[in-house]
Amino acid sequence: MKAHIALLAGDGIGPEVTAEAVRCLEVIARQHGHDFQFESALVGAIAIDTTGAPLPDPTLDLVKRSDAILFGAIGTPKYADPTLKVRPEQGLLKLRQELGLYANLRPVTCFDALVDVSPLKAELLDGVDILVIRELTGGIYFGEKTRTETTATDLCSYSVTEVARIVRLGATLARARRGKLTSVDKANVLETSRLWRSVTQQIMKDEFPDVALEHMYIDAAAMHLLRRPSDFDVVITENMFGDILTDEASMLPGSLGLCPSASLGSGTLGLYEPIHGSAPDIAGRGIANPYATILSAAMLLRHSLGLEAEARQVEAAVNRAIADGVRTADLKPSAAAASTREAGDAVVARL
Ligand code: NAD
Repeated sequence: MKAHIALLAGDGIGPEVTAEAVRCLEVIARQHGHDFQFESALVGAIAIDTTGAPLPDPTLDLVKRSDAILFGAIGTPKYADPTLKVRPEQGLLKLRQELGLYANLRPVTCFDALVDVSPLKAELLDGVDILVIRELTGGIYFGEKTRTETTATDLCSYSVTEVARIVRLGATLARARRGKLTSVDKANVLETSRLWRSVTQQIMKDEFPDVALEHMYIDAAAMHLLRRPSDFDVVITENMFGDILTDEASMLPGSLGLCPSASLGSGTLGLYEPIHGSAPDIAGRGIANPYATILSAAMLLRHSLGLEAEARQVEAAVNRAIADGVRTADLKPSAAAASTREAGDAVVARL
């Protein structure tokens, strides 16, 4: 197969970890006779420094003519002040909006060889296999904002269409997994949550009677995620709840450096990125964990290119590298930890 992949490495450790994911994709292409063309473009702080904009027009043009986007991370301490008018994260928000990437898929699985890294007890981690789907282009992050000297407001709004497409995606994916959908809201307090819950109930009753549905308040979900994580299968939730819940869930495997994500819209174009940020504290030292980005590349193969066998091959190679003890510093804080490149080499060797 021929595929044109936009490479937006971004800032900090972004270029370091995406380089390893590209190497893995190149091996897959060679082995299976695919033709993957990579084209790089600027995004984030480096784009502001170079062009003045966090998402320059040439980058937007490139992603629109690509089959998939491999994204690193954005942000540098220089732009940390949240009152700045132009900030790196605006590049990512605009990208999601322009491409209509409304669903963020974040799988959370625990690696047997890494139970010692998780802050949770090993017996709680047995069988954890969660897919969180976060609504990505609506809710309070995108609503109107106001500010006076003494008050501030952020509008949270959702439409039936925005909720319905997340419910259908979640239920379809749950059907192919363990057949359970947990919808997380705050319907005892928020009107948007009451709409979310009624749309979910109706669609599940009419279209997915074979998928078990449970509703859970966000506060209870935050607790149950730690108390009984293996009970969850597919979780759907709105933008801000999903943002917080997925960072909490990332602690189950034990490091942000193990968690991939995919942002999808109505077509096959998707954006694939690790859930971590640009990690300025370790950038440039060659010690970042590339596994989350390599696992994001596996999601790219699966969701944008339809290459399920190749996706599983990459996931299996990462699993084997971890099982064989190849650990970066976040997983093994000692002088014997693998570098970013060595972890990438380990996956390439096992492909
Ligand atoms: P972060 O995820 O960058 O780092 C949090 C901690 O985890 C740091 O100690 C870091 O060293 C460590 N870490 C993260 N990824 C790692 C990896 N692959 N290997 C080893 N250790 C890793 O979050 P932060 O420090 O809150 O934010 C830093 C910058 O990243 C900020 O500018 C923030 O806005 C940005 N950010 C970007 C994204 C994105 O690009 N999607 C997401 C979150 C944060």
